[in-house]
Amino acid sequence: MKRPTILVLGAGYGGLTTIVNLQKLINTHEAEIILVNKNDYHYETTWLHEVGAGTISPDKARYPISKVINDNVTFVIANVENIDVNTKKVETSAGEFTYDYLVIGLGFEGETFGIPGLKEHALSLTNINTARQVREHIEYQFASWILGEVKDDSKLTIVVGGAGFTGIEFLGELGNRIPELCREFDIPQEKVRLLCVEAAPTVLPGFDPELVDYAQEQLRKKGVEFSIGTPIVEATAEGVKIKKGEGNTEFIKAGTVVWAAGVRGNALIESSGIESNRARIAVHEDMRAPGFDDVFIVGDCAFLLNEDTGRPYPPTAQIAMQQGAIIAKNIKHIMNDEPTEVFVYDDKGAVCSLGQEDAIGTAFGRKFTGKPASALKKVVDDRALYLVGGVGLTLKKGKFKFI
Ligand code: FAD
Repeated sequence: MKRPTILVLGAGYGGLTTIVNLQKLINTHEAEIILVNKNDYHYETTWLHEVGAGTISPDKARYPISKVINDNVTFVIANVENIDVNTKKVETSAGEFTYDYLVIGLGFEGETFGIPGLKEHALSLTNINTARQVREHIEYQFASWILGEVKDDSKLTIVVGGAGFTGIEFLGELGNRIPELCREFDIPQEKVRLLCVEAAPTVLPGFDPELVDYAQEQLRKKGVEFSIGTPIVEATAEGVKIKKGEGNTEFIKAGTVVWAAGVRGNALIESSGIESNRARIAVHEDMRAPGFDDVFIVGDCAFLLNEDTGRPYPPTAQIAMQQGAIIAKNIKHIMNDEPTEVFVYDDKGAVCSLGQEDAIGTAFGRKFTGKPASALKKVVDDRALYLVGGVGLTLKKGKFKFI
């Protein structure tokens, strides 16, 4: 009898956790396991703010996928180009694949909400290369300022759109990096302007208000100005236009604009044949797609309601990894004709970094700030490495400077 084929798309937190669990649960006689990912490496998306600011190198934030998979898995480096769940065909740059079980873990894309000019003129922290581009763009602006006969200070203005997790963590890193860059380029630090523009009325929605106050205060000390409740209405090559009160707008000239305000699922979801909203699929409790019992969705492409709060679970690495583990088990259950398990989120808390040695967070029913929170963040980062690649990967890539 032909072995079933399990096809996993994407080697992010969700896809790779699915794979490392599948390779433990299912041997080569039972099924063929294929992983398709666009790069030969996995990158730590949750470290991209550090790559973007230049406080860690791009290489620190990635590792070869071959280091964490075994012979049970066939790894194909290819770009997924189309998914059709009705014909069970996946087209990739390395040819067409079919499957008995499909796991879609293709991650997120930036959501620009139709704001004119953002796609063309704003940078983003979406993957390792866009993060590298942010870092190099900022350095280029600093170099251009110092070389300019007439000093255009707007080159040294960095606007971050969004005061959610990504925006705040990035600003925290810039707080560390800007003084270094100023020394490197002989630029007086007071010339640099860091501005956080947020449409919503609060910073870090969902976080404990006391911790949010702490975060804002710490970032202000690092020179960050906040413009809250002021949506960006347009971006141009010169900067951004923000709405200030009814009928009033202000143009902020800026050399760098980074958009960090909103994500959606991967656009390939929208033509896959499964109903979606902003490219996210409302999955069943066992992580299967509605109407397609052989298709599982993991990570940021999945939409799942938290029954307790009535609100959707946020797109996080923590959730993606827990979903990956349950999906692997559920595929094994289905192959054994057993009932599937329901995904139950085990909320271990959240930590938002504010630079290399500062953070805010909640864990073990307690609130943390400063160095203890920053140490906790490093433990969280190391734990993600450990869950995928064990002690070896953690020792190689982990963060061990806790104080
Ligand atoms: P990803 O990890 O994004 O992986 C998607 C994978 O699919 C990638 O390997 C990509 O290369 C691959 N891929 C995409 N398109 C294709 C294609 N067409 N063909 C082949 N392969 C493809 N979450 C937390 O829990 N804690 C945090 O502290 C935290 N901090 C964050 C900080 C930043 C700066 C950012 C941007 C996000 C942060 N998040 C955090 C959110 C978290 O990173 C995401 O929720 C998580 O990465 C989602 O995992 P995923 O597996 O769905 O997708």
